Amino acid sequence: MKVGVLSLQGGVIEHIHHLNKLNVEAIEVKKIDQLKKIDGIILPGGESTTIGKLLRDSNLLIPLKALIQSGLPTWGTCAGMILLAKKIENDTRRHLEVMDINVKRNAFGSQIDSFKKIDIIPEISSNPIELVFIRAPYISDADKDVHIIHKIENKIVAARQKNILVTSFHPELTDDLSFHRYFIKMIV
Ligand code: GLN
Repeated sequence: MKVGVLSLQGGVIEHIHHLNKLNVEAIEVKKIDQLKKIDGIILPGGESTTIGKLLRDSNLLIPLKALIQSGLPTWGTCAGMILLAKKIENDTRRHLEVMDINVKRNAFGSQIDSFKKIDIIPEISSNPIELVFIRAPYISDADKDVHIIHKIENKIVAARQKNILVTSFHPELTDDLSFHRYFIKMIV
């Protein structure tokens, strides 16, 4: 199995390290031909505006969108979630538009730009997981067939729709591997 990590901007290497710890081969995806070699893809955190622009400039946007629509297991963390959303509440831009969610960017307010929380997410692990939020979005609305995995303060911060997983937070910035393990199970 080979998992691609979209490597245009943002927190790429941390995802690659986590995948390697689970003995999964990970490759950086920057060009169209690399899309053919992967069984799943992670869209990392970073700046959605920048990654979205680079997706267009590198001509990856349309082929990647087609692959996701045809079932490629895909996980977006933070900015990655924004790229996947069909609707963005506070932005006129749209990117891959493949998941039936409405997201709000930088949604937890400037005073709490970044914060951590420890929660149990039964679907992912029986152990408490550290959740790291950095200028994070949340899902303000989701279609009926979007499965909600976790909420904080009544806001959706992890969800799945078929082959697409999204998290507002950054499991790659903690030592916990459970979310990466869950994503790998979506591939096999
Ligand atoms: N605030 C960023 C955006 O809107 C996302 C932050 C992140 O990925 N850590 O793109």
